[in-house]
Amino acid sequence: MGFFKIDERLETASKKALSKITEDFARIDSITEYNQQKVLAAFVKNGVAESHFAASTGYGYNDRGRDTLEQVFADCMGAESSIFRHSFASGTHTLNVMLFGVLRPGDTMLCLTGRPYDTLIGVLGIDQHVDGSLKDFGINYEQVDLRSDGTPDMDKIEQKIKSKKYAVAYIQRSRGYSLRPSLSVDKIGEMARLVKKLSPETLVLVDNCYGEFVERREPLEVGADLIAGSLIKNPGGGIAPTGGYIAGRADLVEKCGYRLTAPGVGLEVGASLGHTRELFMGLFNAPHVVGEAVKTAVFTAALFETLGFPVTPSSEEPRADIIQTVKCGNPNALIAFCRGLQSGSPVDSFAAPEPSDMPGYDSQVIMAAGAFTLGASIELSADAPLREPFAVWMQGGLNFHSAKVGIMLAAQKMLEEGHIAL
Ligand SMILES: *Cc1c(COP(=O)(O)O)cnc(C)c1O
Repeated sequence: MGFFKIDERLETASKKALSKITEDFARIDSITEYNQQKVLAAFVKNGVAESHFAASTGYGYNDRGRDTLEQVFADCMGAESSIFRHSFASGTHTLNVMLFGVLRPGDTMLCLTGRPYDTLIGVLGIDQHVDGSLKDFGINYEQVDLRSDGTPDMDKIEQKIKSKKYAVAYIQRSRGYSLRPSLSVDKIGEMARLVKKLSPETLVLVDNCYGEFVERREPLEVGADLIAGSLIKNPGGGIAPTGGYIAGRADLVEKCGYRLTAPGVGLEVGASLGHTRELFMGLFNAPHVVGEAVKTAVFTAALFETLGFPVTPSSEEPRADIIQTVKCGNPNALIAFCRGLQSGSPVDSFAAPEPSDMPGYDSQVIMAAGAFTLGASIELSADAPLREPFAVWMQGGLNFHSAKVGIMLAAQKMLEEGHIAL
C-alpha cells in the first residue's frame, strides 16, 4: 500500500505472524460477536430512545437517559444495578468511591492479588501517611502476595480468610504495570467461591480495569459482588470522553452512590450535561473496539516473537485483558519502540516521546500515546519504566488496521536503530 515506509523483511515477519494467529483472530471475533449481541440486546430490552440523549442540568433529577444507561450497563455486566457516569474523574477515583462506599472504620480489607496498582497505594494509605486515605479513616489493609509465578496463592488465601473476619476481599483482574499474568474470569470465580465458602459475608470486589468484554463472562457472573473500572478504557469504547463505572449488587451500588454524591441523596442527582449520547455510543461500540485491541495485542505478541523478543502473554495464551508486554532488552530499544509507535498515531504523530521522572516511580518513565482523548488507553498507547527488563506495556487500538501500522512502525524504528537483527 506504501503509505508508510516499512522494511520488506518486517512485512515478511508480519505476514508470518498473521498466519500464526488466524485461529486466534477467529476466536476473538466470536467473543466480540457474543458481547456485541449481549450489548445490543440490553439496548433493546431497555428501550433506549433518542430522547434519552437529552442533557440534564443542575441537580439532574429524573434524568431518564442517565438512569436507562445505568440499567443497560448493569444488564451487560450481569449486575443488578450500576453507576456509569462522566462525573468519575478517573479509574482511581472510581475504585476509591467503591472502597469508601462499602468499607467502614474498623473493617479490614484483604487484597488477594498482591500489591495493587500504583495509584491505589495512596487510596489505601499503606506506604506512608496519606491524609484522607482509607487508613486515615481507620480501615485496615492486608494482602496475600502472589506466588513466584505471579498467580494467586490459593492456600494462603484460604489460611487468611479462615484466620479472621475480612469485610472485603479485593481482586485486581489486570496485570497493571507488573509482569504477572492477568486473571481469567474463571480464576476470579474460583477465588470468589473460596472466599464465600469460608466467609459468606465477605464482599468480593474486583478492579475490572482493562478486562471488560475480553471474555464472554464478567466477574459478577462468577460470584463477585461489585466491579469497577474506567470509561477511558474498555467500556467507553474510545468514545466516552471521561468517566468510570461501578456495577453489582443493588444495595452495594446504592452505598457507593452515597459516597459519590451524599448520604441520603445518592444516585438521584448528577446532571448528565449532554454526555449521555457519547456514553451510550461508547458502550455500544465497546465490544468491537475491545476485540480490535485484543487483536492488536495478539498481533504484537506474534510479531515480536517472530523477531526474537520475549513477550507476555505469548501469542498463544488465552487473554484476560488488553495488555501486551514486550521485553525490549535495553533502554534505547525501549525508547525506539515508543517513538516508532507514536509516529503511527493519528494525533501527535510528530512528537518524540522522552523518558522523564514521574511521581511515584523510582525510575524514569516513557509514554507513547497519540490519542483523541487524553490518557485514553483503549487507544493505541505504550508506557515503560526505564529499568530491567526494559519491558514495554502496550494496549489499545481503536481499530486493528491502524494499530497494526503503529506496531509495525515501532518495529521499523527498532530495526533502523539496530535493535532488531534480521
Ligand atoms: C488504569 C487502572 C487503574 C486506574 O487508573 P486511572 O489511571 O486512575 O484511570 C486501576 N487499576 C488498574 C489495574 C488499571 O489498569
